[in-house]
Amino acid sequence: MSTSPTTDAPPAPAEAWHTLPTDDVLDRLGTSTDGLGPDEAARRLAADGPNELTDRGSKPAWRILYEQVTAVMVLILIGASLLSLALGKFLEAGAIGAIVVLFAILGFVQEHRAEQAIAALRRMAVPSVRAVRDGRQVEIAATELVRGDLVALEAGSVVPADVRLVEAVDLAVQEAALTGESEPVEKSTAPVEGADVPLGDRRGMAYSGTQVTAGRAVGVVVAPGMATELGRIADLLQGVESEPTPLQSRLDTVGTQLAGIGLVVALRVVAMGVAGGEELADLVLTAISVAVAVIPEGLPAVVTFTLAIGAQRMLRREALIRKLPAVETLGSVTVICSDKTGTLTENRMTATVLDIAGGRLVLDQVEAAEAVAAPGSPGAAALAVGVLCNDGDLRVGSTGDLETIGDPTETALLLAAHRAGGGGDARRTAVPRTAERPFDSDRKRMSTVHGPLGGAVPALAALPQDVPLALVKGAVDGLLGRAAHVHAEDGVVALDDGWRQRVTQANDALAADGMRVLGVAYRELPSTDAVADAEEDLVLLGLVGIIDPPRAEVRDAVATCRAAGIRPVMITGDHPLTARAIATELGIAEADDRVVTGVELERMTAEELDAVVVDASVFARVSPEHKLRIVDALQRRGDVVAMTGDCVNDAPALKRADIGVAMGITGTDVSKEAADVVLRDDNFSTIVAAVEEGRVIYDNLRRFVSFAVAGNLGKIIVMLGWPLPFLLGGSSEATTVALLPLQLLWLNLMTDGLLGLSMGMEPAEPGVMRRGPHAPSAGLWHGGLGLRTAWVGALIGALSLGVGLVAYVVGNESWQSMVFTTLAFAQVFQALGTRSTTASLWSVGPLSNRVLVAIAGLVVALQLAALYTPLSSFLGLDALDAAELGICVGLGAVVLVALECVKAVRRRVSARGAAAAARR
Ligand code: ATP
Repeated sequence: MSTSPTTDAPPAPAEAWHTLPTDDVLDRLGTSTDGLGPDEAARRLAADGPNELTDRGSKPAWRILYEQVTAVMVLILIGASLLSLALGKFLEAGAIGAIVVLFAILGFVQEHRAEQAIAALRRMAVPSVRAVRDGRQVEIAATELVRGDLVALEAGSVVPADVRLVEAVDLAVQEAALTGESEPVEKSTAPVEGADVPLGDRRGMAYSGTQVTAGRAVGVVVAPGMATELGRIADLLQGVESEPTPLQSRLDTVGTQLAGIGLVVALRVVAMGVAGGEELADLVLTAISVAVAVIPEGLPAVVTFTLAIGAQRMLRREALIRKLPAVETLGSVTVICSDKTGTLTENRMTATVLDIAGGRLVLDQVEAAEAVAAPGSPGAAALAVGVLCNDGDLRVGSTGDLETIGDPTETALLLAAHRAGGGGDARRTAVPRTAERPFDSDRKRMSTVHGPLGGAVPALAALPQDVPLALVKGAVDGLLGRAAHVHAEDGVVALDDGWRQRVTQANDALAADGMRVLGVAYRELPSTDAVADAEEDLVLLGLVGIIDPPRAEVRDAVATCRAAGIRPVMITGDHPLTARAIATELGIAEADDRVVTGVELERMTAEELDAVVVDASVFARVSPEHKLRIVDALQRRGDVVAMTGDCVNDAPALKRADIGVAMGITGTDVSKEAADVVLRDDNFSTIVAAVEEGRVIYDNLRRFVSFAVAGNLGKIIVMLGWPLPFLLGGSSEATTVALLPLQLLWLNLMTDGLLGLSMGMEPAEPGVMRRGPHAPSAGLWHGGLGLRTAWVGALIGALSLGVGLVAYVVGNESWQSMVFTTLAFAQVFQALGTRSTTASLWSVGPLSNRVLVAIAGLVVALQLAALYTPLSSFLGLDALDAAELGICVGLGAVVLVALECVKAVRRRVSARGAAAAARR
């Protein structure tokens, strides 16, 4: 194979990119280290299509339809329709067929909408990447990458396409998704011989879908989208998962139980008919339809729809749901463990204080400005080290303002130096870095290696000029352990106990003011390759105090959490005193509360930790691995834990937590993939808002299930209860059924289908965040819901059966229409009466759920149409006169009155309980 760098050489086959030197690769792809121009990128994007895998995650429409019409219940109905046809009952056959189609359409529309909502969420989760175009770094969606684009990779990135590495620093990539190898593989830019070496050995390549675990790199895209290695095995693709939620599984059980009941009712009807000498064929048809009518067909679709609507509502509040079960689990969260930086604070870092051997300088004061601007001063040197040992960037934006690129901690240092008059870029070009050890949250520091300064940077005149230097910045406690000297006013002196104490005190004082503190240090190196020794035997230059104000809205969110029985816990890599200062300011902890440090945590046994997590609200100087232990300990206590995380090492804790929460802005791709929820604004308050939505959705789902089950219970009572009085009286009327199959199916369509849908849209009940979380193990019917469902069902059944029996006895021929109408109105009123579990319909606002009001209006209109239009002959109904209709509506309203009375009594009882508790 040719490796000549000519541009007109045929492109190398995909497998061979790893064998080519990087210059060749760039040539062959028609690109350079400046990347592609925007026009060429657009042309390639149009030609090759977006960089994405064909979406196999979502269900196509035909599949949803297929699943709808092959659901057991629908199959039974289709069977019933065919049976009617065979028996020559064309009207029934047609009608049941029509209902099948209606249910199928309803189910299809609901599920299709839910699928589309999930697909939209999935599209939103597309990560953005830093590419180089026309020599400038630009942030673009990963889907816009094309062959020949240069893309930056760093710890936590998921590699967005197959790339040949053109720059790599300490790069390690976990390729388990492709090779099954779970240990990260070290990568470099060197070509690897042999076109067909296995993927795992192609060290110069990084493949789409694998995860960068350490270091940083720049790669040129050699294959995007379906042309990637991952694209070839696209079955591995995991999008937003849509496994059934715990509640959905529980509802399946309810469905099965109801199906069982339906079967019993059906058999009962057949038995009674046979006893009465009816024709078996008729009976079978009636029985099948009755059984189906007892089952709430709308249930699965309504549940899916409600969850998807819930996910959309959460999105409006900036929480992106990646896994649907999270919508429900969020409602039962008992502890929210949150990072500090960016989530509780604004991540608007400003370096305000410089503490050097000569004392403390407050950076916005004139004397300080002079001190740090003076070439050769320790202050100037400390700031210059902060600029050189730094991956951030400053740029003049299109509006003429200074824009920052990169980690806010780093850009705070650049801005401080900029204000002091230091030209960051010039310094960086004057002394380019020859090696580096990137920052990570475990070491909590970063270092860069540079050749001899040779006087190129006046601000660093105080440092040695003719040997290679390592420049280091990081957490002060860590640096103290690695420093042997300190750069005092009159030169470098040994870091004795006195100095150590002084530095520690300065560090503590800054941290106690809520500041993030970075130490800056350097050391002389024997050569520019000696990067391994960069962080030993350091000379401490000074400390920089960086303020990051708490987010204004978080204080209220913390208070909301407490009222809602949720404990907020801060977990941070920062100093314990910084952590405590911020936690106290936000109301997460009291000033004298214990702060548990990572070091203490490390020494604790599982039992000790279990005892500590009961009331510790602040964990400081922790590493990502500690988060996993904290989650475990909380879960052992029975807590339902939401845990935030942003870096690659947070992924295990995010996976382990009941709700893993990743940061949309600052989070790494890996953390987002591991999370259930992504906060689009990185804000703690958003978690609390999502919890509230979770509670509302859970309430609404339970409300719907109770509604559907109570209605069907009413129908069972009517169907089973009807013949009893006649049987007892020895009358042959026993064989008459109370309601015809078509009538039952119609009722189900109105209630479970239409009214059920609108219940998912019920707004939050007042006080939803002033009660404790529900226990996930509490089951569906807890809190008296089972009892309420039973009595409401019994009431609906008794009223409908009662009106029918009385009408029948007095010889009213429209008795069946009255049973039918009473059942329908009872459920409309039930829907209104159960809008809140405690508050009256009046205080909730009768019109506050407009969709429900509109649908209830529609149901009433359809119900009247069933009685007074030609539909009535189709359904076998009679037009009721005004008095009869009035009786049915009045009886239906009894359900609302009863529900309101029970709620009023409950309110009284709980108010009395609260008053008694207050007196005690
Ligand atoms: P939080 O949990 O509050 O979001 P974190 O766990 O992300 O914080 P890290 O970013 O890991 O905290 O920072 C921990 C410590 O590491 C800081 O206190 C600081 O001293 C040091 N540090 C942070 N960023 C850098 C950086 N870019 N370079 C060097 N040291 C840093």
